[in-house]
Amino acid sequence: MSDVVVVGSANADLVVEVPRRPDGGETLLGGDLLVLPGGKGANQAAAAGRAGAGTAFVGCVGRDANGAYLREQLAAAGVDTAGLAESERPTGTAIIYLTPDGENSIVVSPGANHALDIELVDRSAELWTAARVVVLSLEIPRETAFHVAARAAAGGVRVILNAAPAARLDAETLALCDPLIVNEHEALEVLGAGVQDPDAHDYPRLAARLREAGARSVVVTIGADGALIADADGTERVAAYPVTAVDTTGAGDAFVGAVAAELAAGSSLLDAVRFATAVSAVSVQRVGAQSSYADRAEVEAFIA
Ligand code: ADP
Repeated sequence: MSDVVVVGSANADLVVEVPRRPDGGETLLGGDLLVLPGGKGANQAAAAGRAGAGTAFVGCVGRDANGAYLREQLAAAGVDTAGLAESERPTGTAIIYLTPDGENSIVVSPGANHALDIELVDRSAELWTAARVVVLSLEIPRETAFHVAARAAAGGVRVILNAAPAARLDAETLALCDPLIVNEHEALEVLGAGVQDPDAHDYPRLAARLREAGARSVVVTIGADGALIADADGTERVAAYPVTAVDTTGAGDAFVGAVAAELAAGSSLLDAVRFATAVSAVSVQRVGAQSSYADRAEVEAFIA
């Protein structure tokens, strides 16, 4: 049985460099197509696996070449894919235009990720009810994620919810999260607040408000400014490593997967966040999401 079970999305990231965004009715020539493994759930599972945790992934891909590729990439990160179901719908895909202005344009086609309904996820219940830590994010149907969170927590499994893409969460759902992990934008949306909120840049206050709203513990990630933890012990800031970022794609997912691996191994939330900060610092120095994740030995060498 796996200590960490990630229930979430898997996408093939189709990346093309283009000189600019095409206009309506226009055909542009781009660079060579790059196909990379992605999707928040699969990224988080790969990060937990590379961090050395016994990890399983529960999700859904299509019966197509991208689905087989994503399964292969997860296995290469040491992740058990027995809970990766197949659907008649195509594998989830993110179509990414890389433009010189750095403002990438992305279209996500959820495909098979949206076939991961409660009935399907319950077929792998023996995996996620026996885990130490279950990780959820919101690129799968929300009712599926909330169902797993409630059932896993009721059985004593520690639930990490990464509320991404952002969604407003009620007190009942927040009470299952230990921790809730969000970036600064998602923190506002979970609270139902907007960028005009007076606390929009007061991260300790946002974390405190998320706990007041019901979360058992909270981690707010703030990119190059690091992360903030709020739990029963108080509030703690963990600085990011001063590195030169090449590509921050999947840094948040690396962080979540590494936190899960450390919590499953018995670390405190503060120690888990410290390790995850190193894992994501290594990842931002390389291109891609899963392809940028280091294994444990490399992360320990980076910290030393
Ligand atoms: P998301 O991608 O979900 O918005 P963040 O950008 O907050 O997540 O990144 C998650 C974590 O990755 C941060 O808490 C930080 O530790 C690390 N990180 C992100 N960007 C950088 C950077 N430029 N330099 C160093 N660490 C970074």
